[in-house]
Amino acid sequence: MTVPSSSPEATLIDGRAISEEILAGIKSAVESSSIIPGLAVVLVGSDPASSVYVRNKSARAKDCGFQSYQVNLPPDTGEYELISVISELNSDASVHGILVQLPLPPHIDQKKVIEAIDPEKDVDGFHYVNAGKLAVGDSDGAFIPCTPLGVMVLLKRAIGSNLSGKHAVVVGRSNIVGKPVAALLLAENCSVSIVHSKTIAPESICRHADIVIAAVGVPRLVTADWVKAGAVVIDVGINRVIDDSGKSQLVGDVDFECVRQTAAAITPVPGGVGPMTIAMLLRNTLDSAIRTGARAAQSSGSPS
Ligand code: NAD
Repeated sequence: MTVPSSSPEATLIDGRAISEEILAGIKSAVESSSIIPGLAVVLVGSDPASSVYVRNKSARAKDCGFQSYQVNLPPDTGEYELISVISELNSDASVHGILVQLPLPPHIDQKKVIEAIDPEKDVDGFHYVNAGKLAVGDSDGAFIPCTPLGVMVLLKRAIGSNLSGKHAVVVGRSNIVGKPVAALLLAENCSVSIVHSKTIAPESICRHADIVIAAVGVPRLVTADWVKAGAVVIDVGINRVIDDSGKSQLVGDVDFECVRQTAAAITPVPGGVGPMTIAMLLRNTLDSAIRTGARAAQSSGSPS
């Protein structure tokens, strides 16, 4: 006998539609101004997944009226050579955003490369200056990493702009997702818990959350017994798994089918956080171009 579910299914947070709306806004902002934002994307090597990401970023940038520079370097590019390329982009006035596609080959020190990017062009928000500004709550004028920014946009679409007093649990503590998301939630006056690989019984902490952000990289880790009825769940995970019929499939860090029975709202994978990352990258680049224009106007004494 099938027992009918007493709780209605969660509302789907449609990241694809929301990102298209944001990209359309960026495109029309560029069309109606004299600014041409310039985005340079640097790829070392030819990792297939990274090549697809880079192509997508460059194509969306062009769609929005940006000047897009794609720099493809061979896999044996040295650290010094890569940093020289970044220095050239730092001093190129037509480039407002520089993104180095990660991961880099093991012979290159990722930290040194990120620190070589001018913080005012660091549209990925990974430079210590930008990470530090976010950590101390001085995010005006800082670049915030794109995926965490996208998470916050989706969350506010689901809950509304006032997140104050909500208990948020972030599953994962990476520098590119978990930690910056936690800092952004704290800045919105949430009570924030971070659980990670060494947390004992993370599900018992997660179960009390109004907001769950999963950024782990473990397929379907977060199951229904981790999630309180009525919570909002944002799934950052992108994991490729082989399903029962032997087909390759993309799944998140959340067991979508069971958690959607408990949660009030949930992002799907694919089509949730993923598309938001490019939209936020282009928004950061547009902001950078606007700030550069304002600085130039200020130094020439004319009103911006
Ligand atoms: P990461 O490997 O750098 O960090 C994973 C974190 O999860 C670590 O802090 C670890 O402590 C924690 N963790 C691991 N196992 C755990 C467990 N059993 N319980 C609780 N915590 C555990 O990963 P990342 O770069 O933060 O990425 C996380 C996921 O998000 C991946 O699936 C990645 O592909 C995806 N991602 C998606 C986007 C996007 O654009 N949508 C961007 C970045 C990352």
